[in-house]
Amino acid sequence: MNSRRDFLQKVSLGIGVTALAGLPASAAAPSAPVVRAEKQLRVAIMGLGGYANIVAEAMQKCTMATLVGVVSGTPSKVDTWKKKYNIPDKNTYNYETVSEIKNNPDIDIVYVTTPNSLHHKHVLQIAATGKHVICEKPVADNAKQTREMIAACEKAGVKFYIGYRLHFEPHTRELIRMRESGELGKIMHVNNYMGFKSGDPTQWRLKKALAGGGAMMDVGVYALNGARYCTGEEPIWVTAQETKTDPIKFKEVDETITFQLGFPSGVIANCGTTYNFNNFERLYVIGEKGFVELSPAFGYGPIKGRTNAGPMNMPAHIPHQTLQMDGLADIILNNKPDPHITGHEGLKDMIVVDAVYESIRKGGQKIFINKA
Ligand code: NAD
Repeated sequence: MNSRRDFLQKVSLGIGVTALAGLPASAAAPSAPVVRAEKQLRVAIMGLGGYANIVAEAMQKCTMATLVGVVSGTPSKVDTWKKKYNIPDKNTYNYETVSEIKNNPDIDIVYVTTPNSLHHKHVLQIAATGKHVICEKPVADNAKQTREMIAACEKAGVKFYIGYRLHFEPHTRELIRMRESGELGKIMHVNNYMGFKSGDPTQWRLKKALAGGGAMMDVGVYALNGARYCTGEEPIWVTAQETKTDPIKFKEVDETITFQLGFPSGVIANCGTTYNFNNFERLYVIGEKGFVELSPAFGYGPIKGRTNAGPMNMPAHIPHQTLQMDGLADIILNNKPDPHITGHEGLKDMIVVDAVYESIRKGGQKIFINKA
């Protein structure tokens, strides 16, 4: 059983049109034809695995972003994608020929969806082609690699985004709006957790060399990133504890971690992540004037939420990746300011991830975060 897929791929009910403030209207009802804008962001995807397929499907409903190319080491996958998405031969690459993308005027941006520990190498390769790059979470194995990726993209003059799809998701955006507008009052506490029971014991996610770490790297980053958008602050200290109930399966990577983030205002976010049980997905932010609870909060949705005022009535669910790719296309094509999804946002998370692992290595010691 692929429990990750079962857990994350909850059915997309895409039954309406969304026009969120600041985002382009995208994704008409599934039955309606997509009306594409004249200007399109032309996207190639690198690493044609499970998530790449989800992004590619979601992009079929985009109005401003088009899938035009692929990078893959598996010729049979390239053939399938070429047929399925009408991709011309000249826009197909493998890991040896990927540098040739620099000579291709028909690709604007490459979306890296390879295993975590390859992100660093692949983002550097794409930056060297002069194309913009989107990299999946976790951005890299650690903050050091992330800084190198940011530097490479800045040197090449290309944009560097992280695949933080929730920053385009209506409930998440509404919670950020409520916090920023003061509707929640002073934020007093955050309690976020995200995990699931991992399936196949042979998968790369359980191998340190390809995954960089375990649950913390894979889905703990949602609880952590969420704590940062719940508070609008950066943590100044971290404590963390790890437990391993299955030391054989999780020999190389972390299984279950709880971690606490201390913010300058005095707020503490109490967070958790796991690879070894289900029903562990919730965001809960409490302010002096109100609260927001999202559950589910971080998966593919539909996200559900309630506040002190009652249920959150947000627009009908649209796949997050449709909103994300149209949102990014709007930003890039129309020269809009970057929201919190750049490499720098990924770096802020990786600094905390490094501190989580350091605290665990040091028996739960409080780690003060040095941003330098
Ligand atoms: P996957 O195993 O399904 O796909 C990985 C792809 O990378 C495969 O096509 C594989 O062939 C390719 N690959 C290239 N070099 C490889 C190598 N040396 N070893 C193994 N595979 C190699 O994994 P996935 O679930 O698609 O995850 C890919 C990335 O996407 C991860 O970083 C993951 O964290 C991220 N992801 C993000 C979300 C999200 O919601 N944002 C969801 C799932 C996965």
